[in-house]
Amino acid sequence: MARFIFITGGVVSSLGKGLASAALGALLQARGYTVRLRKLDPYLNVDPGTMSPFEHGEVFVTDDGAETDLDLGHYERFTGVAARMTDSISSGRVYSTVLEKERRGDYLGKTIQVIPHVTNEIKDFIRIGEDEVDFMLCEIGGTVGDIEGLPFFEAIRQFAQDKPRGQCIFMHLTLLPYLAASGELKTKPTQHSVKELRSIGLAPDILVCRSEHPIPEREREKIGLFCNVRKDAVIAAYDLKSIYEAPLAYHAQGLDQAVLDAFNISPAPAPNLAVWHDVADRIHNPEGEVSVAIVGKYTQLEDAYKSIAEALTHGGMANRVKVRIDWVDAELFDREDAAPYLEGFHAILVPGGFGERGTEGKIKAAQFAREKGVPYLGICLGMQMAVIEAARNVAGLTTAGSEEFDHESGSRRFEPVVYHLKEWIRGNQTVARKADDAKGGTMRLGSYDAVLREGSRVADVYGTTAIEERHRHRYEVDTRYREKLEATGLCFTGMSPDGKLPEIVEWADHPWFIGVQFHPELKSKPFAPHPLFADFVRAAVENSRLV
Ligand code: GLN
Repeated sequence: MARFIFITGGVVSSLGKGLASAALGALLQARGYTVRLRKLDPYLNVDPGTMSPFEHGEVFVTDDGAETDLDLGHYERFTGVAARMTDSISSGRVYSTVLEKERRGDYLGKTIQVIPHVTNEIKDFIRIGEDEVDFMLCEIGGTVGDIEGLPFFEAIRQFAQDKPRGQCIFMHLTLLPYLAASGELKTKPTQHSVKELRSIGLAPDILVCRSEHPIPEREREKIGLFCNVRKDAVIAAYDLKSIYEAPLAYHAQGLDQAVLDAFNISPAPAPNLAVWHDVADRIHNPEGEVSVAIVGKYTQLEDAYKSIAEALTHGGMANRVKVRIDWVDAELFDREDAAPYLEGFHAILVPGGFGERGTEGKIKAAQFAREKGVPYLGICLGMQMAVIEAARNVAGLTTAGSEEFDHESGSRRFEPVVYHLKEWIRGNQTVARKADDAKGGTMRLGSYDAVLREGSRVADVYGTTAIEERHRHRYEVDTRYREKLEATGLCFTGMSPDGKLPEIVEWADHPWFIGVQFHPELKSKPFAPHPLFADFVRAAVENSRLV
């Protein structure tokens, strides 16, 4: 049965709890253990699928089609363990399940209360698959003291009581602010945060303290003493140049040892950190640099394209170059010439997105890349824009567009080269959607197979003709235009197994121009860069030698 590690945060948000959890997962793996990571989010949305990327960052999609928090992306990138639908839960999901059960009469006339009904639901969730791994790491979103978080804190308190002694530990992340005037690190916010935790019955076994300055030994002692945590379990977390240094940095501070000590695991198996040394070496010793433009809409918040930025970094590591990312707002050249905004980049990436705003700029970016021979990777909406560009400017369908834009404006302005997908096959079942379906969870979501054309660039890049990739879309390129487009040289080199849904397009006579309907970025890892990103960066390197 699994041992459980509960990870909470205090003092301020954005301390890097997700990263610390992911790094700890990687360190436990390095010692030969199996792990699974989970995120419990106190917000009331059922899932982040309906939240704006401006608000919450990217939506991370799992193989089994859940729309989840971007922290699950960190978990996967550090551990290589594919996240599942059952690795992410929110208050909204918990309450909607409890209320459904109440309506069905499952509670047999009882009064429904936070304790025990909501907390039981949370505990059941935490227990899912507990026999499958050695360690289950559960991160609680938000900060201790948040009103919404209380049922989760109560649930993990009960959970630890229900289990035999020594089966659950608590790790708490805090901040040690530095007061420049007195030249001191202050421990009081950490003390208060732990006091808050203890007031709801949780005593941390491990404290991870974020700090911009070295934490002197006597401060660690003081924190240990005042927070009732062993001195060795007060772990410093300093700012890092790259997130991929986190496993080595946390190991150097003794985090994994402290965790094993807290569980009384002795002697602890020795860690093998060779993978992370190699990752760090590739990050710290690049042999060149390329610059890639990401032409998108949510460019003010980098978290909106988190996995894409990470996958590009991995692509750079595969080629031993640093990838400099420039965020270019597509709306800037909706009505203008794109060239002044895009010249000088070694490659252009147009990411996924929703709605019409900024799409004329993205279409121009695809045109610029096609005409100038600049490597182009179009992801989801970025593929759809490349197809519309080809239809308008090469195949002569001057009014080509996406039904998505007409739906949004309620008018019919475009020839729907990209149409609203209403039916598709999942496994051996047909999934159907109506035009007026609710927004949440109704897209074509999760992992689907695609078949690649023998001899195409993508088949070469992947080294196979059968792939599985993750999807999140409502619209699709219409195969009725396939012949016309292929006649211009835009080849449909990846299709769904039934041949109905275009998955990949590429220009035959271009140095590197690929559009994909899926999200390859979600499966890239620092120790296993996704082949499309690795080859895209390789093409950027090649292009950088020409300019
Ligand atoms: N808005 C487009 C669709 O729903 C693209 C989605 C995406 O880029 N993830 O098909």
